[in-house]
Amino acid sequence: MIAADAAVQENPYELALQNFDIAADALELPDDIREMIKYPERELAVTLPIRMDNGHIRRFQGYRVQHNTVRGPAKGGIRYHPNVTLDEVRALATWMTWKCAVVNIPFGGAKGGVACDPKQLTMGETERITRRYASAILPLIGPEQDIPAPDVYTNPQIMAWIMDTYSMTKGYPIPGVVTGKPVCLGGSLGRNEATGRGVYYTIVSLAEHLGLPIKGARVVVQGFGNAGSVAAHLLDSNQAYVIGVSDSRGCVYNGKGLDIPKLMMHKETSGAVMGFPGSEPITPAELLALDCDILIPAALENVIGRGNAAAVKAKVIAEAANGPLTPEADAILEGRGGYIIPDILCNAGGVTVSYFEWVQDEQHLFWDAQDVYNRLERVMKTAFNEVYKVHRERRVGMRVAANMVGISRVAEATKLRGLYP
Ligand code: NAD
Repeated sequence: MIAADAAVQENPYELALQNFDIAADALELPDDIREMIKYPERELAVTLPIRMDNGHIRRFQGYRVQHNTVRGPAKGGIRYHPNVTLDEVRALATWMTWKCAVVNIPFGGAKGGVACDPKQLTMGETERITRRYASAILPLIGPEQDIPAPDVYTNPQIMAWIMDTYSMTKGYPIPGVVTGKPVCLGGSLGRNEATGRGVYYTIVSLAEHLGLPIKGARVVVQGFGNAGSVAAHLLDSNQAYVIGVSDSRGCVYNGKGLDIPKLMMHKETSGAVMGFPGSEPITPAELLALDCDILIPAALENVIGRGNAAAVKAKVIAEAANGPLTPEADAILEGRGGYIIPDILCNAGGVTVSYFEWVQDEQHLFWDAQDVYNRLERVMKTAFNEVYKVHRERRVGMRVAANMVGISRVAEATKLRGLYP
């Protein structure tokens, strides 16, 4: 487990509400607007009876939460993980609202999840869970309503099954109902690596402000999945040294830098980073405490808290994961002059290219990969500069600044739309 103390077990939804209040106070947001935008608009809990391969029926619990749709259709991934709870989904949906607003794309926030252990499921069982879940949340989703995407332990194949299930009930193909689809079904080039690429662009932006060269920077990545491995690969390609990497099974270290393309192949073939030739195993606590310039938590939430934040030596913490730091960790790390690139900014590349995918699906007109990267870079760097400006001008931490940018956009849209009825 990566959780290192009691603090990290905190309820992520409580943390999301706490972070909202801090930014809303800094914005001096009126109480009426707070009442209108703080809490989820809609929540659906679904029970999924599934025929397992052994013939028995097992029950799984799923959720879809739409936090806010004031600025556009709800948008957010679907997570398959044993620890999925309604509060976790609420927190992730809330962050999606502020995230879409920070990068200024016309979406609201949503999230979904199924409490299951994907590693224990066969392909057939995963497909049956996915199709049953998609049917159960059908009243909420649609290209103009709510558009799911991949999150932890869900992938393009799972999106393809959701797209198929939805399309079969309507009687014609509707690729815009999900993003993160395979390219041959209307997915966007560049979507798979979008989150990691966006993380990279925000790190480069901050490094420019700090005068920290990427070349020679020492990097640690916790969670070598989609987001973490792509960010590691781009940093490695730009001559940073990725010295430590972990996944759910263990951590590897090489003080001279791990060969990231080879490590990606090793993880693909063996299923884990452990045992990578030329690396030595270290513990999760040692990984987070490595002497480095940039730490990228890219696994799950609440991994750095009161008990382990003081041990973190990185100057820059780039939150590829959603909610990896508790408020106590923020205070400890920023208190000693560290820089946090907050999740809703740092990992917004994924939803940004999801937006590009949805636009392409709606127009039936597809862009080349370079076009996607250029547009993504523009969006991420603009968002970074807007957040950094608030951070400097208002003398607030980067997380508060990002929340202020996102929340103020949602608040303005809410004011303009007014209260119905
Ligand atoms: P993923 O499933 O591709 O990768 C997750 C990785 O984390 C895996 O390598 C897994 O082994 C590792 N992991 C799990 N438990 C761990 C532990 N205890 N210690 C160390 N590593 C552990 O998922 P992903 O899509 O890369 O998502 C990772 C994080 O990024 C999540 O917080 C997710 O919400 C966030 N995120 C992802 C996207 C996206 O587009 N993929 C977008 C925005 C945010």
